[in-house]
Amino acid sequence: MPHVPDIKVIKERCVACGDCITLCPQSGEGSTSPVLDMGEGTVAVLDYEACIACYTCVEYCRAAAIHIVQEASGHEGQPDLYLTRPVNRIV
Ligand code: SF4
Ligand code: SF4
Repeated sequence: MPHVPDIKVIKERCVACGDCITLCPQSGEGSTSPVLDMGEGTVAVLDYEACIACYTCVEYCRAAAIHIVQEASGHEGQPDLYLTRPVNRIV
């Protein structure tokens, strides 16, 4: 199951400059289903599934208003082979 990037826009930080929309390869003019678009005074995430997780918006946002959380892809993680033990019990 492909994972969908979980994009969060911190509305209190966004200054609505539009840079993320301009730079996003999956948004802006010509996009049939843009990830990002300008909402009411802040950027809105319209199509999560169209995001390719390139992190351009995260990197270039002047206000550090965009965050992406990669969700687990459904596969189970490796077991912990190095179990931690109390530091005061040196064996
Ligand atoms: S680049 Fe950042 S501050 Fe500018 S519109 Fe996008 S989220 Fe808002
Ligand atoms: S991570 Fe890339 S594709 Fe996804 S919204 Fe940001 S700029 Fe667009």
